Amino acid sequence: MVQRVALTAAAIDVGYILLFLWLGSVPLAAINAVSIAMYLGAYGLIQKRYNAPALVLIWTEVVAHAALGSLLIGWNSGFHYYLLLFIPAIVIANTRGFAAPVVLALLAYYLGLQALCDHLGPLDPLPAQSVKIVNWIHICLVFAMSAALAAFYRRTILIAESRLRTQATRDPLTGLANRSHFQAQATQALARSQRDGTPVALLLCDVDHFKRINDQHGHAVGDEVLVAMAGTLGENLREGDVLARWGGEEFLALMPASPLDAACATAERIRAVVAQAPLPVGSTPIALTLSFGVALVHGADDLQAAIARADKALYESKHAGRNRVSRG
Ligand code: GH3
Ligand code: MG
Ligand code: MG
Repeated sequence: MVQRVALTAAAIDVGYILLFLWLGSVPLAAINAVSIAMYLGAYGLIQKRYNAPALVLIWTEVVAHAALGSLLIGWNSGFHYYLLLFIPAIVIANTRGFAAPVVLALLAYYLGLQALCDHLGPLDPLPAQSVKIVNWIHICLVFAMSAALAAFYRRTILIAESRLRTQATRDPLTGLANRSHFQAQATQALARSQRDGTPVALLLCDVDHFKRINDQHGHAVGDEVLVAMAGTLGENLREGDVLARWGGEEFLALMPASPLDAACATAERIRAVVAQAPLPVGSTPIALTLSFGVALVHGADDLQAAIARADKALYESKHAGRNRVSRG
């Protein structure tokens, strides 16, 4: 962002050099040439990761340019508008609580500069029409820069918001819903099913002897297995089903419009798919099996009890030798 600002400002200053040469103000054209050097210097500093000195250089340029322009051709030229762009930047970048004093210092500088300009009058006056043209150009540029600045901050906020929403609702490893998001989505799905009078099933799935996979192949491969499992489960469920990572190697799915038999058939299909073909994780195909517990949910109030029933059924699958589906 700062890099783009430095390059854009340097390009704008090239335009200003031409403008001031055309209007007959050689000192202002020369000041813009110095400004270009400062912005290119700031650009080079950022490329070398010297961000703080680059920012100081840009600040110095704007503060000095506003003063010199106003003193040379008068306050009416509008060079000072650029100082106003600092206000949102100061307040938003306020990480150490310095915003209020810095904004007040800027205000003092702004008013002091105006008083000095009024007192001295233009040191290198231009015809009134030329000053008006300069003022219009400054107004248009500051409007455009304010809009670009606001758009940049808006984009930053939207990205941060979306990142926070993902962190709050998703399991970072598999990208599936986490527990709390599952509860929220399940509650909505259950309310819809209650209105439609359709049955809702729960499917709890646990990887058999997962600890052995970790022990034999390492934790990283274990992680890849979990990601692959999330993919396999997702592929075999329907669009309206809610799938979550319920615990370490446990996955829970809520299946709207699904009677117990249909949910058991889905579990059986997934079980057979996984049991028949070793998972291609990295270069090592990993054979594994899954155990399932399936239960019906009788309304929104029954969700926790239904999870307990599915858990009990899963325990029965484990107890009976794993790699099977039990209904609760
Ligand atoms: P069972 O067939 O009875 O389910 O045996 P199990 O080994 O699958 O179950 P157990 O509960 O004894 O072990 C689960 C293991 O899952 C232990 C834990 O280290 C591992 N685990 C939990 N979360 C993660 C994870 O995010 N990544 C990896 N790689 N392993 C995990
Ligand atoms: Mg397990
Ligand atoms: Mg487990």
